[in-house]
Amino acid sequence: VRNNYTRNIAVYDDTLHKAELYNAKLVEDFQTAIDQKQFQLYYQPKFDVTGDTPRLCGAEALVRWNHPELGMISPGVFIPCFENNGLIQAMDHYVWHEAGRQIRAWKDALGFTVPVSVNMSRIDMYDPNIVYTVLEILETNRLEAADLHLEITESAYAEDEEQIIETVRRLRAMGFLIEMDDFGTGYSSLNMLSSLPFDVLKLDMRFAQNSASEGKDKYMLGVVTEIARHLGALVVTEGVETQQQLEVMKEAGCDIVQGYVFSPPVPAEKFETFLTDAKTH
Ligand code: C2E
Ligand code: CA
Ligand code: CA
Ligand code: CA
Repeated sequence: VRNNYTRNIAVYDDTLHKAELYNAKLVEDFQTAIDQKQFQLYYQPKFDVTGDTPRLCGAEALVRWNHPELGMISPGVFIPCFENNGLIQAMDHYVWHEAGRQIRAWKDALGFTVPVSVNMSRIDMYDPNIVYTVLEILETNRLEAADLHLEITESAYAEDEEQIIETVRRLRAMGFLIEMDDFGTGYSSLNMLSSLPFDVLKLDMRFAQNSASEGKDKYMLGVVTEIARHLGALVVTEGVETQQQLEVMKEAGCDIVQGYVFSPPVPAEKFETFLTDAKTH
């Protein structure tokens, strides 16, 4: 026992140490990043695929960190870090405000825009002031609730169901459209689907990527879209990369598609070309 004990504390895990140092740097640089506007929003178009030709119907705002020393950092890296270090709310509020500002800018420049969906972390949902935070974004930018959709990850609902459901109810009562994100990745059960408030079911990309052939996955896809329809919810599939996957999704009754088959997330200036195209068609 003694030997094991000694050996354990003597072990020095270099990889772990490096990851800790890296995360510590991200935390340390956070405020500067906010102050210097190093966080950038990319926008990925969403297309309504229920008609003969796909029609632009929305966008998802996805944050990137353009770090002066570390380069472009993906949210998969810094979001979990910020969630663990109490910074996620400040970052998300920044992102939502920035999205609101951009929607206003597009409305002013083009005379119209499509709804932009922003992501909400589980931690955001416990904030009793969240309703006022999003209201303020509308007021500041003279927007309506219909301009901003809210994506809430499915796993958020599982943690403290009652409080989350209450917050979601309040947000919906204000007119916000709620998209249940990452559906099918975690805790979802049929029971949850019937008791949770949401307007859009956003299928995790594994549905697009595993359902191309016949089999269980394709069958599940059909069942899920059928249930969504009965609940009056729209179905969005993300991570659709190929024409073949797109066809499968349309056939299964998916309403909206987001994925590389149409476009990756792009900077605001580039997204504007989707808007101008949509306007002239
Ligand atoms: P998510 O909300 O599920 O966003 C979809 C992710 O899939 C994005 O990754 C997007 O770039 C990627 N994606 C889109 N189309 C395709 C495709 O056809 N194929 C593949 N393989 N991937 C595709 P991204 O931008 O790296 O974001 C990762 C995650 O970080 C997001 O997953 C979301 O959970 C989180 N995130 C991003 N922005 C924010 C934010 O502002 N706030 C919060 N709280 N989380 C955010
Ligand atoms: Ca999302
Ligand atoms: Ca998702
Ligand atoms: Ca995700």
